[in-house]
Amino acid sequence: MNQEVRFRLKHVIIFLSVIGFLFFYSLSSNRDCEGEQSSRSNVDGAESWEAGQGRDAFLPNRKGPTIYAVTPTYSRPVQKAELTRLSHVIRLMPNVFWVIVEDAAQTSSLVTNLLRRSGLQERSVQLFAKTPTNFKLKGKDPNWLKPRGVEQRNEALKWIRNRLKHNALGDDGTEQSHSIVYFMDDDNTYSTELFEEISKIERGKVGVWPVGLVGGLMVEKPVLNRDGLVLGFNSAWKPERPFPLDMAGFAISADLLLENPQAQFSYEVERGYQESEILRHLTIAHDMQPLANQCKDVLVWHTRTETPKLDAEKSLQKSGKKSNDGMEV
Ligand code: UDP
Ligand code: MN
Repeated sequence: MNQEVRFRLKHVIIFLSVIGFLFFYSLSSNRDCEGEQSSRSNVDGAESWEAGQGRDAFLPNRKGPTIYAVTPTYSRPVQKAELTRLSHVIRLMPNVFWVIVEDAAQTSSLVTNLLRRSGLQERSVQLFAKTPTNFKLKGKDPNWLKPRGVEQRNEALKWIRNRLKHNALGDDGTEQSHSIVYFMDDDNTYSTELFEEISKIERGKVGVWPVGLVGGLMVEKPVLNRDGLVLGFNSAWKPERPFPLDMAGFAISADLLLENPQAQFSYEVERGYQESEILRHLTIAHDMQPLANQCKDVLVWHTRTETPKLDAEKSLQKSGKKSNDGMEV
């Protein structure tokens, strides 16, 4: 009997030791994580975004200024793929409001479906503005022949200015937090970290940062002086432009757009001058706000998607068939 009790006691002790070990082990591994996190967020200056904010970006309901991301888009075989890629970045960044402007005479079900399926209906608007026929690229035209996205970006600016004027005072009469406008073409590649940087743009400022794979260079970037102010740009292509940078390389505090209603894009300007055309009304290089680790990090790339070869599809079509019958691709 005694022996049996001792035997049971031994089992209970072993069982409790295992539970105790597991409990303390889990506590200590939690502490390790916290330690790691706090040492990460202690990293200051240039590298701080690298460790901490990348992870924060996944937290829902982050506060911050509203970023209006303006995307001109047009119907072509790769359109849904491009917009799907963009929608995933936007889904991760709750303070982004997506302004899609279709280059068409009306909105399309492809874009409506995409917004619905990505759950972005509440923080997006689907607009349309058709490029006039004389400015539209034709079949084999090289894409630099005519400006792209002018009509659509101007339509978006009109919509945003209108919305901000009406929203200037919230329901409770207090001033709303500020907004930022970014021109987010549908074929580029965007890091979520870019939107963390854009959120830092101050009222009355235009933020700038490097863009990868553009203008014949690995990276086009603002050149800063020792005090961290923008001196100029490193561009190789048409460096004489007032602002020789790509559309993906800046974002604008919306109050500048309200104060300067004439600032917009134009068909009248020389190739490569769209960025300068809008920025000349809003800022000078010296006043721009350098972002992305003092313009040392590349968070957006001017990628371009190859036009798919659809020879077999064309043959099918000749015989009245198609591979995507009843399917949205
Ligand atoms: N775009 C458009 N209609 C067109 C051609 C282009 O709305 O006929 C859009 C396109 O979807 C993109 C932006 O305008 O969001 C810039 O076009 P693209 O990427 O071809 O220009 P690039 O990068 O070569 O300057
Ligand atoms: Mn492009």
